[in-house]
Amino acid sequence: MYDTIIIGGGASGLAAAVSMRRAHPTKRVAVVERLPRVGKKLLATGNGRCNLGNTNALTHPYTNAAFARPALEAFDPKSFFLSIGIAVRSDSEGRLYPLGNQAATVLDALRFSAEREGTKIITDTAIHMAEYSNNRFLLNDSMECETLLLAAGGEAAPQHGTDGGGFSLLRQFGHTITPLKPALVPLTAAGTAPLKGTRIQGNFSLLDSKECLLAESSGEILFTDTGISGIAAMDVSRRAAPGCLFCIDSLPMYSTEESANLLRRFRCDNPTAPWEQLLSGLLPKAYASALCKAAPSAESADFARLCKAFCFSVTGTRGWKDAQVTHGGAHISGWSSHTLRSRLVPNLYAAGEVLDVDGLCGGFNLQWAFASGCLAGQLL
Ligand SMILES: Cc1cc2nc3c(=O)[nH]c(=O)nc-3n(C[C@H](O)[C@H](O)[C@H](O)COP(=O)(O)OP(=O)(O)OC[C@H]3O[C@@H](n4cnc5c(N)ncnc54)[C@H](O)[C@@H]3O)c2cc1C
Repeated sequence: MYDTIIIGGGASGLAAAVSMRRAHPTKRVAVVERLPRVGKKLLATGNGRCNLGNTNALTHPYTNAAFARPALEAFDPKSFFLSIGIAVRSDSEGRLYPLGNQAATVLDALRFSAEREGTKIITDTAIHMAEYSNNRFLLNDSMECETLLLAAGGEAAPQHGTDGGGFSLLRQFGHTITPLKPALVPLTAAGTAPLKGTRIQGNFSLLDSKECLLAESSGEILFTDTGISGIAAMDVSRRAAPGCLFCIDSLPMYSTEESANLLRRFRCDNPTAPWEQLLSGLLPKAYASALCKAAPSAESADFARLCKAFCFSVTGTRGWKDAQVTHGGAHISGWSSHTLRSRLVPNLYAAGEVLDVDGLCGGFNLQWAFASGCLAGQLL
């Protein structure tokens, strides 16, 4: 019997445990985690460096940004992490990292802080059944509590413990779950194998089958043998579907006309050089070669158009296993944005990826997880 049980020992669940013990030091709190240890996913974040937040979170276009705002406003990542012994630095794009650059130190600080303040951590225990009656929650017919926080994450990266089980629990309580989609995930696309390993900097757009714009990004992509990876491809993936086009503007610093003029000049100065060689003065060789194969003619204007928009047919995404986050989740209408308390079940709270809030690469998803965990934790 506990006062509060937190289902899920990930980013939001551990942050909630820390903030809850501070707000209510005498309450009996347990974090219940299905894996043998808490925070497995945290260790993999930011390539092991843990991009734990972003200074631009308040203006970030999260899904359901207005719902996320109260939690984000109430949370200062630098002071929260300092309070558990982690100094944080920001880079030129506002991304926040622990000063020691190690995700393991973030996890240790969260875990030690939660345990030091009296939270019981129960591992190897998956909650698959939850009921509410007589002002009590009963979990798996074996644990009871007065307040329950669901912090079980989404469906992305099931190898880190998240298989969508949190959504099943919320459905048991009558909550609606919006359609779920893998997000921040590499795209699969036709014809990329010859470009495998090639990186392109530029502007990128995702178009639907009628060539209407679905999403845009900029930065770097990486071709793989099955499609397109890299942050700028992952950032458009939540809108991707079979039949979309992923179009690359590899010369964003020039207009199409300026690109054509530049290529004409290259041609005039090198009248006998093959186009592949001329284009290699602007672009990686393998990409220049792909443009040459795709060009309808040997005119500078055609090459310029391809430099500005070279499109690949998207066949889908690499799916849940390679996704960093879930697009979709518990419908926000069922929750108060100021308390993250359920509007359907008394004393039920939710935080993190299980709610229908997701952001792009850059620390925004962890910041939401920590911020929502801390808000719910204070109010539990
Ligand atoms: C490879 C990778 C890299 C990433 N890098 C970044 C990054 O650098 N920056 C960033 O902002 N975001 C990053 N993310 C996304 C970020 O990790 C998640 O958005 C965030 O961890 C979500 O926090 P959460 O607490 O909601 O869920 P999680 O951290 O996923 O935690 C949920 C926990 O609940 C447990 N659980 C699930 N079901 C049950 C159950 N039924 N009973 C008991 N326990 C259960 C799980 O085992 C898990 O430990 C990355 C994700 C991945 C996969």
